[in-house]
Amino acid sequence: MNKFATEERCIAHLEKLRWPDGPRCPKCGGDRISKFEAAGKTGKNRYLYECMPCSYQYSITVGTIFHDSHMSLTRWFVAIYLICSAKKGISAKELQRQLSVTYKTAWYMAHRIRVAMQEDKDFCQKFSGIVESDETYVGGKQKGLRGRAVSTNKVPVVAIKERTSGKIRMKVLSDVSSTSLSDFIRENVAPGSKMHTDEFKSYLWLDTSEFAHGAVNHSQQYVRYEGDEAIHTNGCENVWSLLKRGIVGVFHKVSAKYLPLYLNEFEFRFNNRDEFNMMDQVLRLSF
Ligand SMILES: [Zn+2]
Repeated sequence: MNKFATEERCIAHLEKLRWPDGPRCPKCGGDRISKFEAAGKTGKNRYLYECMPCSYQYSITVGTIFHDSHMSLTRWFVAIYLICSAKKGISAKELQRQLSVTYKTAWYMAHRIRVAMQEDKDFCQKFSGIVESDETYVGGKQKGLRGRAVSTNKVPVVAIKERTSGKIRMKVLSDVSSTSLSDFIRENVAPGSKMHTDEFKSYLWLDTSEFAHGAVNHSQQYVRYEGDEAIHTNGCENVWSLLKRGIVGVFHKVSAKYLPLYLNEFEFRFNNRDEFNMMDQVLRLSF
């Protein structure tokens, strides 16, 4: 709160992250830039840049998730901080209280931040080594329904977890058929990796595929050993319990439409949980 107490401090921080070698023109890429202040419509000072060669005038938020928002950067920074530090997620209602903004604004800000978190995927490489895969159902009003029982108001979600890095990836699926699961796994896991799953029939294709496969029969045991290799999907189980505590306890009822965005937020926070500065990660993704 102290570090980013003023608009000027937020701008200085964004500037350092966005243009480590000094401001650049977003239009022509030029680096001969003059900075100036001008009175904005609301009476508050606006901090602007002007490109000498092409005369383009812009602010630090041009082309970012903060662009076109009347919200101060100080509030945006607090919103990002709160979303990053709430392990189970934070509701729009809670954001509204903390930021003293309307519910609509809080909701909009949270969604913009989730969209930024989503961008992270582009930098992701395929998982390799041992990779767990599991699916669950999210949504609807029935509590504690677990497993693959067909339910119309529940949306299937798949998660994979790379054993060495501990990173996860999740996706909303239309169904849990072999085709859907194999598409997701082939998109996200390098050939030659070993998949750990339970004995669900939609994973049978793995046995004759480009992947190695170790299955554990959950009606009998949670872990099965092949020599020293422990075959289990406990990593995914942990993700489900965290995700469900978030959705049940914080978001109450997540509509299927927004579920992919909520999953992004969870995934981002989970994968960056050991990062020294998760907030800067989000800010970098906001450009
Ligand atoms: Zn320019």
